[in-house]
Parts: sequence; C-alpha cells; structure tokens
Amino acid sequence: MHFPKLETYQAKHVALRESIRALDGYLYELFESSPKGDISPPLVAKRLRIEEAIALVLLMFAHKSGIITPRYFVYCPNNEDFIASYSSSKELPKTIDCPYDEKQHDSNEYFTELTFQFSADLLSQSTNSSA
Ligand SMILES: [Zn+2]
Repeated sequence: MHFPKLETYQAKHVALRESIRALDGYLYELFESSPKGDISPPLVAKRLRIEEAIALVLLMFAHKSGIITPRYFVYCPNNEDFIASYSSSKELPKTIDCPYDEKQHDSNEYFTELTFQFSADLLSQSTNSSA
C-alpha cells in the first residue's frame, strides 16, 4: 500500500479490501501525475468499477486518513456557473448571494459538487522528501 493509513480501513471493512487497494493505487498514480488536481468521485467510481456511493465511502476513508480533503463547489442553478467553494458540508450556506443573477439562491436551489484534493500535509511531506 502506498498510503499505509488505509490499511486500518481494509482491516475493518473486509468486503471493501480490494476496492481500498485499488483506490490506494489510483490515488498514488494521481498524486504522482497531478498532486494539485481534483479527485472527482464519479471518475474514481468509473476507474475502480464501483458504484459512486461506494467511491464516496472509500474517499471518506482517505479523508479520515489525512490523505485528501473534501471541497464543496456551489453552482448557480440558472446558468451552472461556479459561485463559491467550501471545505466542509457544514459550511455550506443556507442562502448564497449569486453574482450572476443578483439575487440569492437557497440551499435546496443551488447545485453542489463534491471533489477532493490531496491534503496540505501530504503535499508538504512530498516537497520535503524531494528537497
Ligand atoms: Zn444564480
């Protein structure tokens, strides 16, 4: 395993063992090729040939292991343009001022998209080790 902290979850979730191993390999590959890129749950699901809901569970394990951090993007429901991003679902506002429509959208109106990014800790470790 490239990210040994994920082994804890392999031990706890035997049914997901192989998927966690596949995630470990995929995350390592992404980290090597584009450490600052986004990690998109639908792409992870496609790549690992698993349901998107399972991909989210696996990505949450990686989040709890300190490997990746979530990022919630909020989009205008009228033109699908990006409005703001947040690091936790708890930070998502009840209403958001839309710069495109000059009005507010409430939380059951605007779109959110969840992606993950490699954690700052991991990125700094990698810079340290290569220096
Ligand atoms: Zn809008």
